[in-house]
Amino acid sequence: MRDMQPEAYKIAMVKLNGMYSYCTGGACRHKAILRYFGQTLDKDNCTACDMCLGEMDCMDNSLETAQKILSCVVRIEQRFGGGYTALVLTGSGDKRILENNHDALSTYGLLSGYSKHTVHDWIEQLEGQDYLRKVGDFNVLNVTEKGLQVLKGNETPRLLKPAEKPANVSRVVEDSWEGVDKGLFEVLRKLRTTIARKKGVPAYIVFGDATLRDMARLRPSDHVRLLEVKGIGEKKSRQYGQAVLAAIKDYCHASSIDMDVDGIPL
Ligand SMILES: [Zn+2]
Repeated sequence: MRDMQPEAYKIAMVKLNGMYSYCTGGACRHKAILRYFGQTLDKDNCTACDMCLGEMDCMDNSLETAQKILSCVVRIEQRFGGGYTALVLTGSGDKRILENNHDALSTYGLLSGYSKHTVHDWIEQLEGQDYLRKVGDFNVLNVTEKGLQVLKGNETPRLLKPAEKPANVSRVVEDSWEGVDKGLFEVLRKLRTTIARKKGVPAYIVFGDATLRDMARLRPSDHVRLLEVKGIGEKKSRQYGQAVLAAIKDYCHASSIDMDVDGIPL
């Protein structure tokens, strides 16, 4: 992008920002696409996209969070952009904020439990749903008529839960094949199919894949160790423990591999 003409760079950045808003916007996908082409969708819920079907993980207190953001935009007199607003809400000690005495506002630090990045994303989401409008060359935030309804509590925007940090260890462990004996995994998968058929339930009800992987990784020799496996509680241990432990023991003896491997500390 650095070799681009300044004008082309500017246009590319506007397009990139638009794409980012589309992905993180919290608004109906169909509405957003139609809006891009200058058209409107005459219903609030298209009943077909991930947003409208409620497949996205939304904040439980979207209304309250949105009200904090919108009232902050009002308090700073609708004269600043999203980045600055996010700094005020997260209680930043930024020089500009102190110079403007915005650390004295009642909305200063109202969202200090969140990162500036998260708050900025929510601002974009509010803009994507027409509760905020960006005005002028500096993208100064203005509260729209729809936004005022949020402040009155008459309307609730959709704000997405902040994305989990990539360093979320348990997630990584769940998805990872590290230390998993694939032969044993296959044996356990077949056992799961047999159990599921016998009980007439779907396989995932018996054990999830992550649980099978963890079993094939930790290779427990008794019920106590079995409880260390992800997704195994007292109930599953009682229901299927015997069959699982027997299968693990047989496999490990036959292939001369260790049992009771220590898990990755979480
Ligand atoms: Zn939709």
